[in-house]
Amino acid sequence: MAGNSSATRTGRLVIISGPSGAGKSTVVRGVLEASPLPLLPSVSATTRPPRPGETDGEDYYFLTPAEFHRRQEAGDFLESKEVHGRGDWYGTLRFPVEEGLAAGKWVVLEIDVEGMLAVQPHFPDAITIFIHSGSREELERRLRTRGTESEFSLNRRLAAAEEELAKKHHYRHEVVNHDREEAVREIVAILAKVAAEAA
Ligand code: 5GP
Repeated sequence: MAGNSSATRTGRLVIISGPSGAGKSTVVRGVLEASPLPLLPSVSATTRPPRPGETDGEDYYFLTPAEFHRRQEAGDFLESKEVHGRGDWYGTLRFPVEEGLAAGKWVVLEIDVEGMLAVQPHFPDAITIFIHSGSREELERRLRTRGTESEFSLNRRLAAAEEELAKKHHYRHEVVNHDREEAVREIVAILAKVAAEAA
């Protein structure tokens, strides 16, 4: 197919994962602002309720479980899964990702490790980045400061985070988020290097 293999003409997939509470979302926001590349954040769908300050269609598409499962059956997801074992579903919608890539965007997925492992085989040149905050102690401190979790939910998240940390070797890049601005700069530099190599 003409032009099909040209990495510079279609977009790239950027997959960012890391334990909940590692400051991932604020770092990703910083990267979207700071990088000169045509980054397009992918909005995931979830059945979990919105947190204060979250907007439907921006942070997530907040779907009812029935609607989520209908879209699963329809094959609308690139990947979907139940996270934290408490019945909350998360998924990456196929259409906006494929449309973004076809338009030459660098589509940014902020998904968990299992999601990355499900998506990556379909996009072997995906840029995979694992962000974490170092120790379990640091992570617990952050989650407690955020104050949005019940003790039950916090313990589940810490257990999930430990499991995720053990899988960081699946990622091409690892960024430790000690300082937000530094983590942003590091990721902007990783992306710039990939772009320069592909040019
Ligand atoms: P939160 O509820 O804190 O927004 O997200 C919880 C976890 O779900 C995070 O680890 C986040 O990366 C993951 N997540 C968010 N969207 C998706 C998605 O579309 N697919 C998968 N597999 N995980 C997701």
